[in-house]
Amino acid sequence: MHDTTLGPAMGGCRMWRYASDEEALADAQRLARGMTFKAALAGLPLGGGKAVIIGDPGRDKSPELFRAFGRAVDHLRGRYITGEDVGTSVEDMEAVRHETRHVAGLAGGSGDPSPLTALGVLHGIRAAVRHRYGRDTLDDITVAVQGLGHVGHQLCRLLHDAGARLVVSDVVMERVERATDEFGALAVRPDAIAGAEAEVFAPCALGGSVDLATRGRLRARVVAGAANNQLASPEDGVALHRAGVLYAPDYVINAGGLISVAQDILHRGAPYDRAAVEAAVTGIGDRLDMIFEASARGAHPPEQIADAMAQECLAVPAVA
Ligand code: NAD
Repeated sequence: MHDTTLGPAMGGCRMWRYASDEEALADAQRLARGMTFKAALAGLPLGGGKAVIIGDPGRDKSPELFRAFGRAVDHLRGRYITGEDVGTSVEDMEAVRHETRHVAGLAGGSGDPSPLTALGVLHGIRAAVRHRYGRDTLDDITVAVQGLGHVGHQLCRLLHDAGARLVVSDVVMERVERATDEFGALAVRPDAIAGAEAEVFAPCALGGSVDLATRGRLRARVVAGAANNQLASPEDGVALHRAGVLYAPDYVINAGGLISVAQDILHRGAPYDRAAVEAAVTGIGDRLDMIFEASARGAHPPEQIADAMAQECLAVPAVA
């Protein structure tokens, strides 16, 4: 749990093949901080937390494992609320639900958050394209999508429907083939996606996609995608800004899934209202507009503006 100033700490559970306990803990802490800022800027009365399970999601999963995790979550008595993340699914959360009610994103409620995350990223890409290229549509804009999992694939569908061209990559070949078949996307090798000829680079795999090496290859003048912790370091954000590349702060653009699961928590027992969630998710584009404008007015990169705005929200405790 990173911060509970605004409400209980919300954040999904990631299952990954971490090399050590230290690596897993560092990831959980970094992701939990991102959740605090994400909830604050999305205007939600929630704090930030995250859980990680060390293991191979393709090999080490069992209902017993997730029930044990559920007991650990329950032990925190609602100060932390869990949900899906990379490597975990709605089914896994159903097993967690046997042990605790402090879990969101279940089949009977908001379910898989990734379609709403993808929708928020689409709004964010539109805002960034407007600011950087002065274009109101995505017609003939090329987006290089890194990672074609839950969010990446659905983002490709939305972008394709909006008239954008796609360049894609994934380390799993079937996912690449699906995108080339369904959307006429151009496939490139994973190490070539950041340098692809495109207006927008959309990282939708794991964190750290923007580092010294990828910055050197980048052709796009917008970086806007779903992945958490896209910047390998704060210096990478400053360098993007200096190079005239507009970066959509990750926890602002990828808040759609959180806005969706927050419905389960804030309106417990009420039916899931998809239309209301979709309307709230459009606010992501408006928030990014504000951030980009403030960044253009002053000398600060967008992620520093977003951090300052989130800190401001955290300084004022929510009214009960
Ligand atoms: P996912 O596991 O379904 O998809 C990730 C994809 O990235 C997989 O297809 C994987 O094969 C691919 N990948 C891994 N390494 C790669 C590489 N080097 N190059 C290209 N592809 C690579 O995860 P997801 O749910 O789609 O989430 C994607 C990102 O968005 C994550 O960083 C996650 O934390 C973030 N995010 C997701 C949500 C959500 O609602 N699912 C919400 C907010 C943020």
